[in-house]
Amino acid sequence: MPEGDTIRRLADRITERFAGQTCSRCVTRDPRLVGLDLAGSRLVDADAVGKHLFLRFADPDGRRRSVHAHLLMDGRFLVGPASREHAFHRRIELWFDDGRLTGLDVPLLGVVPTDREHELVDHLGPDLCGPVVPDPVVVAARLQRDPDVPLAAALLDQRNVAGFGNVYAVELPFVVGLSPNQPVGAIRGLEGLLAIGTPMIRMHGAAGPRNTTGRRLGTADHFVYGRRACPVCASPLEHWTDRDSPWGRISSWCPVCQPVRSPRDTDLVRARRLLALHPVRRDPMFPRADAREPDGLSADR
Ligand SMILES: [Zn+2]
Repeated sequence: MPEGDTIRRLADRITERFAGQTCSRCVTRDPRLVGLDLAGSRLVDADAVGKHLFLRFADPDGRRRSVHAHLLMDGRFLVGPASREHAFHRRIELWFDDGRLTGLDVPLLGVVPTDREHELVDHLGPDLCGPVVPDPVVVAARLQRDPDVPLAAALLDQRNVAGFGNVYAVELPFVVGLSPNQPVGAIRGLEGLLAIGTPMIRMHGAAGPRNTTGRRLGTADHFVYGRRACPVCASPLEHWTDRDSPWGRISSWCPVCQPVRSPRDTDLVRARRLLALHPVRRDPMFPRADAREPDGLSADR
């Protein structure tokens, strides 16, 4: 499922492959793109803001316009080869010198003048995979603006911070011993979770696959996402389906390792132990062992 890191990697891959090339043929099958013809326009670059993707074009008359895409749950782009999917799924197809770019089942597509892209993303919080690394203390304060919201719901709300999707909303609470159901206002040291999650998603934005454990690094390995038992205490996990979850997404947590209590501390000792093998430990932002406990980050960071 596309999260901020996936879209960042996708944008970089599109730029690497097609930037500077002129689109020779353009086929669209989306009502919002009726009349769009990018043939003759040059792809300047592709960029990601949170989970929003922009394909920026320079037209022969000097106009700049951007194709805007949001993949939601199921959309994807195929970069390079021709798609074999039925035409119905190919919502946009662009031919370049060096291959084809195909948007498959992309649920949200549109075109905007490039200098008005910001209108589509102004409502988002700091971009976790953007050029400026968001400050965990600032992001924690945004997450805790509404203290009654469950932690996972606050992490998923892109107005607080842009980029986290459901894998992070399940895995990060587990790593620091917090329940995804924990009211976010009762958490102490929430910036510690962000000092782990921020470099982790940025690392995955630079190279995949998304691995939250540090084990079998070439694979998409997770502690509790998509699993049945706790890897720490072996208790059966509890689950929300997307229908019964208060925030509308599936979730999993260990009732023993992640109890809901008030107040509740972010457990960085647990996080360091669980992520002992993960390369994110080498990031300067990762909470250090001598960080003041249990408040999380101290002035030595
Ligand atoms: Zn457990």
